[in-house]
Amino acid sequence: MNTKSKGLVGGLFFLTLAYFALGFVSILTANLALLCMTIPFILLAKARKKTWCQHYCPRASLIDKVGRKHDWRKNPTFITNGKLRSFMLWYFGLNLLFITGSTIQVALGRMPAMPYLRLFIAIPLFPLPQVVTLEAAPFLMHLSYRFYSMMLSTTIIAVVLSRIYRPRLWCAVCPVGNLSDRMLKFTSTK
Ligand code: SF4
Repeated sequence: MNTKSKGLVGGLFFLTLAYFALGFVSILTANLALLCMTIPFILLAKARKKTWCQHYCPRASLIDKVGRKHDWRKNPTFITNGKLRSFMLWYFGLNLLFITGSTIQVALGRMPAMPYLRLFIAIPLFPLPQVVTLEAAPFLMHLSYRFYSMMLSTTIIAVVLSRIYRPRLWCAVCPVGNLSDRMLKFTSTK
């Protein structure tokens, strides 16, 4: 990564903070999470390399900042043996499945919306205070809280790992990075 790219990534952490702050303005902005889940793969398909990870990832920028310290610890076994990486991939897949399935059910009127945060899929919290209360279909509100909850849960894990071990340890288990690696491997064998 050249100096210019490092500088660009270095300043992008504010996008992560802005994402969480915007949730207090209107939770509907949480749907911007879709961009973080699609742009990496669009760039990957275009350039056949992990352009997002190398130049644009706001989360990487954040954990670079908060994990900055000198007494890095050795990578823990759950990282080196790949168990957490597999777990996170399953967690991400299940989460997306729950989000899609429950949003469809809410849209069809078969279940109530979830108008509050829920950490790590299972821990219900509270609704976010809203600066602007916009009228929205219940399924959209549900989807927004689901995305916000998923982004918050994974950011908490990323930040905790960066503080305990080293800044970019999250990248070793990140589902987006992991899926990108798999797609690159798959296309290189074609
Ligand atoms: S592996 Fe994940 S967190 Fe790390 S740079 Fe790539 S997308 Fe961002």
